[in-house]
Amino acid sequence: MASAAFDYSQWPPSLTDDQIGALTQHATTYALSHGLTYLPPSATQPPSPSSVIHAPISLLPSPIPRSLFERAQQLQSSYNILYARVAMDDDFLDKVMGAVEGVGKADEFVGTLWRGWKAIRDAGIVQPLHLGLFRSDYLLHTGGEDGTISLKQVEFNTISSSFGPLSERAAAMHRYLHALTNYYGVLPWLKSENFPLNDTTARLAEGLAEAHKAYGVPSAYILFVVQPNERNVFDQRWLEYELLEKHSIRVVRQTFEELASSATLDADTRILRLAIVPALSPSWSESSLEISTVYFRAGYVPSDYPTTTHYATRFTLERSRAIKCPTIPLQLAGGKKVQEFLSRPGVVEQFIRDTDARDTVTGAKDLRETWMSMWSLDDPNPPVAPADHAIRQCTDEPRGATYARALADSLVLKPQREGGGNNVYKQDIPPFLETLPMQDREAWIAMQLILPPQGVGSYLIRAGGSTPGLNGGNKTVRSETVSELGIFGWALFSRETGVRERGDAGWLVRTKGVESNEGGVAAGFSVLDSVVLV
Ligand code: ADP
Ligand code: MG
Ligand code: MG
Repeated sequence: MASAAFDYSQWPPSLTDDQIGALTQHATTYALSHGLTYLPPSATQPPSPSSVIHAPISLLPSPIPRSLFERAQQLQSSYNILYARVAMDDDFLDKVMGAVEGVGKADEFVGTLWRGWKAIRDAGIVQPLHLGLFRSDYLLHTGGEDGTISLKQVEFNTISSSFGPLSERAAAMHRYLHALTNYYGVLPWLKSENFPLNDTTARLAEGLAEAHKAYGVPSAYILFVVQPNERNVFDQRWLEYELLEKHSIRVVRQTFEELASSATLDADTRILRLAIVPALSPSWSESSLEISTVYFRAGYVPSDYPTTTHYATRFTLERSRAIKCPTIPLQLAGGKKVQEFLSRPGVVEQFIRDTDARDTVTGAKDLRETWMSMWSLDDPNPPVAPADHAIRQCTDEPRGATYARALADSLVLKPQREGGGNNVYKQDIPPFLETLPMQDREAWIAMQLILPPQGVGSYLIRAGGSTPGLNGGNKTVRSETVSELGIFGWALFSRETGVRERGDAGWLVRTKGVESNEGGVAAGFSVLDSVVLV
């Protein structure tokens, strides 16, 4: 799927300093009054905060061709089903994680989760259902042969896919600025029919509510497992409010540390209960809460497990009767190594056929069209070869690494990590390979760089509270940018029931300055944005 040319260099339109000042004031006050917010930076977050800052945001939405935006939405059901099936295929996951050698051994974090899950699996699973709240991330790619723009997948997230509720509010903020100011009539695309609907909060809460319903105990709670000192709490709180208001489901939030002493499993049923000091209980009377669903907003990075007790707590939750979002196999299914494995000849086709109308409207071929070439550093025969004949003939190490060195300028290397800041780019690749032990190579994948449109820009607003010298004011800067589109979806599935899923669960745009390779909003590299369809 490709799109005709849009002149990206006309974005953003020129605005006067007065216009930028007025829009910045409207945008930031809207954000603060609508919970498009973060807790301010501080070494430890107080239990009852007294102030917020607005999330980093853009002043204008970013242009995305309508056909590609709609295509990304159409693909989501197939992606939901694909990753649900991967998570249910023990043999496949064992193979990818490396039953004998490989990721499981080279990567202590992934290996610990994988081995822990295998032990739980062997002892017997009491809860067959898995819940996934997913986000498939894309960039626009200009590198196609015919010069058209296409949609290419960066990665598929299966754990802690964040910024649903905040991105809904970022889209609403742009719609508000448009309704108020008409963006001063600066460009014809800025009109309401080009601002797509974004109802992420309701849709993601619906996924959690479906799991809760399937568990079958209406009075039970949903547990949010959260990181200590989390600043992105409002993105999570909006889901809690939606669950309570629309579904009458109560949420309790705890860290792994708290759960280490509060969580217990009933010996026979493995019902998960949390012991709560009555005064701290979310409801005034209960001291033991039954948990229907465990939603992880922590547990995806090694630093979430500073001690073996933290892993033990994760495994206790995994063994329980509660429905996990995600289970460990579903978390592992979101690894970059799985993404690379699926791209090998014939592999994704084992999970999704091309013309399986019963499944979805899109098939394996359509998914493949959204992929860049990927390979493992120990691959004897990578899918892309350098032009140099001598390098192609080289035999003194696996070609995967040799080719990655030769093609470094057009590649990114990725380990099995989430949360940003872990990848190695372009000219950093050859020296990095020198230091990478042989046995670790299997745990890394090489991926061709997606080439987003150049010359496109945006006005980015960062809260002064986090910028030295701004004394709590805001700074709006015009930058050349890259925008990443994320499409949310959810799936509730088991081998017995098959896959129930929802493909249109809202979307997210994060925009970063071109000078930064990575784009984490929480890490401060990028801002929350929305779409204007062109
Ligand atoms: P993480 O799980 O840590 O978010 P990602 O695969 O999303 O890992 O990589 C982080 C960031 O790196 C992305 O948001 C994107 O900005 C950039 N990136 C990753 N892969 C590519 C690629 N193939 N081409 C261009 N940029 C990429
Ligand atoms: Mg990720
Ligand atoms: Mg990412």
